[in-house]
Amino acid sequence: MEKERVIIIGSGPAGLTAAIYTARSTLNPLVIVGSQLGGQISITAEVENYPGFPDPDITGPDLVDRMYRQAERFGTRFEYDEVTEVDFTKGSPFIIKTNNKEFQADSVIVTAGASPRRLGVPGEEDLIGRGVSFCATCDGFFFRGKDVVVVGGGDSALEEGLFLTKFANKVRVIHRRDELRAGPTLKRRAFANEKIEFIWDTVLDGITGNGMVSSVSLRNIKTKETSQLPTDGVFIYIGHYPNSKFLEGQLAMDEHGYVIADEKMRASVAGIFAAGEIQDSYFRQIATSVGQGCAAAIQCEKWLSSQE
Ligand code: NAP
Repeated sequence: MEKERVIIIGSGPAGLTAAIYTARSTLNPLVIVGSQLGGQISITAEVENYPGFPDPDITGPDLVDRMYRQAERFGTRFEYDEVTEVDFTKGSPFIIKTNNKEFQADSVIVTAGASPRRLGVPGEEDLIGRGVSFCATCDGFFFRGKDVVVVGGGDSALEEGLFLTKFANKVRVIHRRDELRAGPTLKRRAFANEKIEFIWDTVLDGITGNGMVSSVSLRNIKTKETSQLPTDGVFIYIGHYPNSKFLEGQLAMDEHGYVIADEKMRASVAGIFAAGEIQDSYFRQIATSVGQGCAAAIQCEKWLSSQE
């Protein structure tokens, strides 16, 4: 088994930035990509707030491609696999197992990100890919001229709801309160869009469909009134959970499973660093993940030098 200087677990903005920096420090990083190169931004429609891209035509996949090519240019290697298990308990070198291989690394930067939360209502699981989706960018096209609902009241719900208006006939945003969590810009755009309608104070109790989604069961939490709304698609944007299952018992985490890292991106084991949404449930921006990935890479390089 060959020993790596640094392994980066995950390939979102934090991971790809850590790769660019460690590669430029001649650490020859290996990125274990995970289920999707680029992580969540690979399923993001437009990116409007990442500095340096003023024109409205930069998409998540475009940005991933740029970051990927930049990392590759400096010699980053990519392993298209998922980490299943790690052993950090004996210190460096650390053991990392994927579905197909086992690796050893002097240091590790964990950037495994987060995944969309599910509603946990009847019909949701069975109808994923049959009208239930967590990705408007991936699936919006299939809803040309159809009616869809979006669940959630945050930036993601509005951003993706607005994207869906390019295809859908009607986009109904179902939110459990009567006030949106989303920021003012997206709110303004959503309120101004004629295809978007809001259903306030309402939760979704179930999704129905025989093979494909046909309706949702709604409940107004103030009036307790229930109703059935016919729809062709259900897009769910109710937040995220960290992809940290494989780190249980290995690194200190908070009660929600986010890895605890200090201001220098150091996790609870010396030689392990964490960046991006695996350790940040608060900012969760491409720009902050990029900054954290950069910081983790700089600290990692310093730590490796200190061990020589
Ligand atoms: P979020 O801000 O956590 O919003 C989640 C939304 O889902 C909230 O409105 C919440 O309702 C609702 N919700 C949570 N659990 C629910 C449940 N079980 N049933 C029904 N509704 C539920 O998540 P997000 O929209 O994915 O955004 C995450 C972060 O990314 C934020 O910091 C956001 O600013 C950022 N982001 C930024 C942009 C941008 O700037 N362009 C785009 C996307 C995301 P309550 O409001 O009642 O809690």
